[in-house]
Amino acid sequence: MARPDLPGAQHGSTKIRTCVRFGPELCGIAQERGADTLRHVIVTLPDGTPLELSDGATGADAAAAIGPGLAKAALAVVQDAELRDLAAPLAEGPLQIVTKKSPEALELIRHDTAHVLATAALELFPGVKISIGPAIENGFYYDFDFPGGTTLTEEDLVKLEERMREHVKADEPFERSDVTVEEALEIFRAQEQPYKVELIEDLVANQGETHVSLYRNGPFLDLCKGPHAPSTGSIGAFKLQSLAGAYWRGDSNRQQLTRVYGTAFLDKKELAAHLEMLEEAKKRDHRLLGQQLGLFLFSPVSPGSTFWLPKGTAIYNELLSVNRRMQADRGYVEVNTPQLYESHLWETSGHWGKYKENIFVASYEDREFGLKPMNCPGHAHLFGLQRWSYKDLPFRCAEPGQLHRREPSGTLHGLMRVRRFCQDDAHVFCREDQVAAEVEACLQFAFDVYRLFDLPIRLDLSTRPDPDKRLGDDAFWDKTEGMLEEALRAGGHEYVIAEGEGAFYAPKIDLHATDSLGRSWQLGTVQLDYNLPERFGLEYTGEDNAQHRPVMIHRALFGSFERFIGVLLEHTAGELPEWLAPVQAIVLPISDRHVGAAQAAAATLRAAGVRVDVDERTESVERKIREAELQKIPSMLVIGDREAEEGTVSLRRHREGDQGSLPLAQLVANLVERLSVGL
Ligand SMILES: [Zn+2]
Ligand SMILES: [Zn+2]
Repeated sequence: MARPDLPGAQHGSTKIRTCVRFGPELCGIAQERGADTLRHVIVTLPDGTPLELSDGATGADAAAAIGPGLAKAALAVVQDAELRDLAAPLAEGPLQIVTKKSPEALELIRHDTAHVLATAALELFPGVKISIGPAIENGFYYDFDFPGGTTLTEEDLVKLEERMREHVKADEPFERSDVTVEEALEIFRAQEQPYKVELIEDLVANQGETHVSLYRNGPFLDLCKGPHAPSTGSIGAFKLQSLAGAYWRGDSNRQQLTRVYGTAFLDKKELAAHLEMLEEAKKRDHRLLGQQLGLFLFSPVSPGSTFWLPKGTAIYNELLSVNRRMQADRGYVEVNTPQLYESHLWETSGHWGKYKENIFVASYEDREFGLKPMNCPGHAHLFGLQRWSYKDLPFRCAEPGQLHRREPSGTLHGLMRVRRFCQDDAHVFCREDQVAAEVEACLQFAFDVYRLFDLPIRLDLSTRPDPDKRLGDDAFWDKTEGMLEEALRAGGHEYVIAEGEGAFYAPKIDLHATDSLGRSWQLGTVQLDYNLPERFGLEYTGEDNAQHRPVMIHRALFGSFERFIGVLLEHTAGELPEWLAPVQAIVLPISDRHVGAAQAAAATLRAAGVRVDVDERTESVERKIREAELQKIPSMLVIGDREAEEGTVSLRRHREGDQGSLPLAQLVANLVERLSVGL
């Protein structure tokens, strides 16, 4: 491909070399400088050291000034909270140099790899139309329109990878140029790239752009905001993973494109570990496990709504019951509120204005109703229907209510994204002086819950959003963020600050679990709310006999039980904690004449609270054991002539094998002990 002659300023200046001075002497020297000397740019390194460079100096110049090691390792810079090219001129102020060790490096090289993929696609499929190719979580994609309806195969992916490897090996520089939109349009019209032309035309129409940036690597030129690493050689290891259909601009009325997904890492070892994790995750997909273990089904008659089978229902009910016991121990009461609410309630809560598109709506007798998507408005209304004294607070109310949310069909995903679900949704109504203690108690409760499942937790304190996206003045946010910090400190919890991630009405603490494959899931949340009490006009009578407004704390720890079970199945690969196993023991009669003894043993276990089945089929006991192992049933109890006669069972434990025989009464005592949940 011929290289078009590109007008516009090149950023890739290596000509400007610079005088460099570090540290305190800088100030003195700066003062001595006459008005007629060269202009300089002063940046501040992360340790606070100022660094003076010639005006126009780039990130590469700064890295070289600091040391030859860094000059080699540098990939990009961060200035003004923005990732920028190493070759871009620096601005005054803080400067951070991004290397392979920086968290930003992966996103950078993944986007680089997307360009290299497009490079290879253009070479192997002349006439292919290219659209967009961003980095995404865990990788990247590029959307193509292949000529003549070409459908890509797995072999094509291998060929593309081979060609990409050549471009990575050639260590081709990424070169940026800024051009006028007219120049850019001319270039992409000449290359017959209509998607790029449309993108540029939209930038002009919607954002009034007059210039755009282009990036070249080897023979390939792309419309791109950047940034990129200095060259393709930074891509340590990559893999093209899958193909999917994608509509141009996500619009089902537009062209169907071919999306090629891939991922890239800084080295081969990291890539191999990631691919291995994906293989394991595929085996642990909760939808697959749900089928194999006979837990739940889905049907088109109610998309996104789970049909729980008896075994899945056993898990569901066990979680609910554990949650109920834990809540009762912590001073919560349970309430049971309506499913359908008239529009008046949603107007008061503000949901009709902000959230209506997520609510299933029904009409009856000329009135409009909404199916509740969360319990909060119902609980606020319930609080308002009663009279309260300061002595009654805190009022901690919980409800495992059925919730419905409108979720587009395309986004539904097993138990992880559903339309009907149940949350461990609880609300604490309290006085302002009780907030910190209540929040701390919620966090302690959360740790008690997650400990049951071996889920390590990270706490995020989500603070005030941008001024135009938040209610309340700075004093309000200072106060409420302070209350949450106080609760975090009092509990001795480590936490990270998620700046600007708070709700529009108040800050919150989010609880993220890391599963056994290293994936992060947000499960719980503890949110302050002064807004709903205000909207519902909630009041209590204070010690001073005056009316006061309570604070509301929204709190969920499991999140939705549906999603929690999905996460738990993948976290444990279906090996649930024994107390939660849908079938905790199975009795296996060796032949038909032992069925009676097996039934009697099962009845004894059932009476002791053990979830137990009997495999009465006329199959060999070996086969029954094999199937019970596949069902991950913790205890298998074999009964033959000797056991039936002596009142014993021969115990086999899942994944542990034979444990010998023991009297039934002793087994019952052992199991009852094993199955008690240490709450
Ligand atoms: Zn790019
Ligand atoms: Zn709530």
